[in-house]
Amino acid sequence: MTSSLVRYKQRADTTRIILHDSHTTPDIRSGEEVPRWKALAKDGALRMGLLGIGYHFIIERDGTVALGREVDQIGTHTPGHNLDSIGICLVGGRTDRETASDNFEARQWRALFATICALKGRYGDLDVLGHSEVQRYRNRCLPDCPPVDMDDVRQELSIYEHTRRLRNDGTQ
Ligand SMILES: [Zn+2]
Repeated sequence: MTSSLVRYKQRADTTRIILHDSHTTPDIRSGEEVPRWKALAKDGALRMGLLGIGYHFIIERDGTVALGREVDQIGTHTPGHNLDSIGICLVGGRTDRETASDNFEARQWRALFATICALKGRYGDLDVLGHSEVQRYRNRCLPDCPPVDMDDVRQELSIYEHTRRLRNDGTQ
């Protein structure tokens, strides 16, 4: 069977958005990450049973929103939590191989919040959670995914929902 014949199952319920980071350094250029993942996913398909990128949206460093899996199909991003959730991945989140850091760009946050607003328009209200809030790593020493304060993210989101701006976007 070729990959063009693969059909993922449709998701029956959509109640949550689960946010991830790509665990890569900020110097990754936009437009490079997603093709690399697609190649990796294709290569890994036989070994891991994965048929493609497991996230629905990938927010690149320049704020480009790249499409992964079809939004109505069941993702493969958070084991045990995929049946009712949409997975979004922010590219970045590391300063080097070892160290997590909240190094995301304002344009990534704007793109993320605009995407979340569009999804709420389509599916109704959705909880927005960080991967680590719903699933702990087995190794508790690993940093959170994404390495951000999710309460701050939710507060920023509610500001964005009312103003279509980030808190620190100034007056322009
Ligand atoms: Zn994650």
